[in-house]
Amino acid sequence: MDVKEWKDKVLSHKKNGYDRLPAAEREAMNAYCEQYKAFLDAGKTERECVREGIRLAEAQGFRPYQRGMELKAGDKVYVNNREKMLMLAVIGQKSLAEGVRINAAHIDSPRLDLKPNPLYEDGEMAYLKTHYYGGVRKYQWVTIPLELHGVVAMKDGKNITVAIGEGDEPKLVISDLLPHLGAEQNKKPLNEGITGEQLNLLIGSEPIGDGEEKERVKLAVMKLLYEKYGFTEDDFLSAELEAVPAVKATDIGLDRSMIGAYGHDDRVCGYAGLKALLDLESAPAHTAVCILADKEEVGSNGISGMHTAAFDTFMEDLCEGQGVPVRVCLEKSFCLSADVTAAFDPNFADVYEKRNASQLNYGICLCKYTGSRGKSGASDASAELVAYVRRVFDEKDVVWQMAEMGKVDAGGGGTVALLMANRNIDTLDAGVPVLAMHAPFEVVSKLDCYMTYKASKAIYEA
Ligand code: MN
Ligand code: MN
Repeated sequence: MDVKEWKDKVLSHKKNGYDRLPAAEREAMNAYCEQYKAFLDAGKTERECVREGIRLAEAQGFRPYQRGMELKAGDKVYVNNREKMLMLAVIGQKSLAEGVRINAAHIDSPRLDLKPNPLYEDGEMAYLKTHYYGGVRKYQWVTIPLELHGVVAMKDGKNITVAIGEGDEPKLVISDLLPHLGAEQNKKPLNEGITGEQLNLLIGSEPIGDGEEKERVKLAVMKLLYEKYGFTEDDFLSAELEAVPAVKATDIGLDRSMIGAYGHDDRVCGYAGLKALLDLESAPAHTAVCILADKEEVGSNGISGMHTAAFDTFMEDLCEGQGVPVRVCLEKSFCLSADVTAAFDPNFADVYEKRNASQLNYGICLCKYTGSRGKSGASDASAELVAYVRRVFDEKDVVWQMAEMGKVDAGGGGTVALLMANRNIDTLDAGVPVLAMHAPFEVVSKLDCYMTYKASKAIYEA
């Protein structure tokens, strides 16, 4: 063989996804991305994602799972875990003793939660105190329009749904210092320029009543909230209100090849796993399970995070219906821990190791292991498992790449992978490369979104 033939035979053929995307799939890719954008606009909180997920699933014939329900191949069920986590399954042709195929993603995203006693007045303006949720870079959340989404749970058991700032509604904002007076602030490190206690939402400025009264702006705001939603200041105590960016998902670039939005991490994988499940045309060989979990951004703990026994209960219930011990099912199961990764950003090239960084438009990115500084906290998938997934993806023409996040000593991150692997489920991390992850406005490539959908479908059908 000559040099060229040797090159072809033994060297890697890494290529941009657009050089591998069949022309016939362009339309499907763009159609998928439009649906994904609509999902993002409908789901700016984990609760809204659950609601929208159920709406889409029910339209495809999914029913709420009831314990003891008789299920046969092709049946579609879901469990709504406390409005914040969604678990769906399409029953397969094989017994659960043969294991299930899982796509696990999370639908919570970094944001600013209201404190229990949020409302106050200062400088004759009304504000809401927040406590940031997840790994936010605080300076990114000032001077951008914000919305307030969530629920106020009343003592009588009713829930009041709040969505302030949608559409033409007024927005909220957090102010920053003007450059003219910013000399001292400018000297601070980036992570101290804006502090957690400065993340206060401006919510009003017009006073009510006459000049003798105190805190007239606060009263005016509370009156407006009461008139519109019917709750009082005390009801903030049992509320979950989340400030999220007031921005719709939008195409980025003259070529419209990317999507900018709030909450790609990790709704971009969550939607892929969900849509692929809804699009299964017939009963798959193995039972297909889609998990949309909450609380990943703060450690996956609690009743709706991936640590929750609600997942084990769901699997036990399904297995019990077939007389299969759940441990037998789990040890034969496979899970794609679908979560985003950091895309190589030439603006910040020095934190990446170029040969092992994920790239926009190179497809869904597999991560054999996550963790940081010496793989600490990693779930390290076995070589055999990676080989299995390579085969599954290649058979279905999924464009994929493999990378790790950043330079060895630069940092790192984790996903729910270890929580699934700890349950004796073979698990591999994979997800969409993101620019500006955790920012109020993140960017992904359409090709990578679509390939993550194809990858999820390939897993369900494997
Ligand atoms: Mn994530
Ligand atoms: Mn994250």
